[in-house]
Amino acid sequence: MTSLRKDWDTYFMDIAFMASTRSRCSRRRVGAVLVQGKKLLGTAYNGAPSGVPDCEEAGCMLVEEYELQVQDNGEEQVVKKQRCVRTIHAEQNLLLFTDRSDREGATVYVTDQPCWTCANMLANSGVTEIVYCREYKKDQDKVSKLMKQKGIHFRQLVGYEPPAGTA
Ligand SMILES: [Zn+2]
Ligand SMILES: [Zn+2]
Repeated sequence: MTSLRKDWDTYFMDIAFMASTRSRCSRRRVGAVLVQGKKLLGTAYNGAPSGVPDCEEAGCMLVEEYELQVQDNGEEQVVKKQRCVRTIHAEQNLLLFTDRSDREGATVYVTDQPCWTCANMLANSGVTEIVYCREYKKDQDKVSKLMKQKGIHFRQLVGYEPPAGTA
């Protein structure tokens, strides 16, 4: 049944979005869940290490970066961007708090397409499928290539609507 597949996707992505609401970084709220055989084995969100002031208390820890973007007309443009580096990313927290045996052959549902560092770690974590909702264009090309090289099923949940108030 094809409809069953979609229902599970929605169910687990909804949980990832619920987890993302726990994040205290106002710039980016990301949630991730680990699923093995339709069993939920872990939830995580981006945040500062436990016991140290988070973004809400201490403010975001911003770094500036220059990013090369290709415009619609094919021209390249250098864009200055700010990024908060105070938090451990949701995917990394998920890996810190789950067991290797639980990750073997498992699926990760994540609200946002993983950045390069997270994708690199997930590629070595045992998971065989990654499902995301929102695109993250910056690292898209190299992340997609890595997933192909590793044989990890990497897909965007298209037509999905996050639960009200979570996105
Ligand atoms: Zn922050
Ligand atoms: Zn990341």
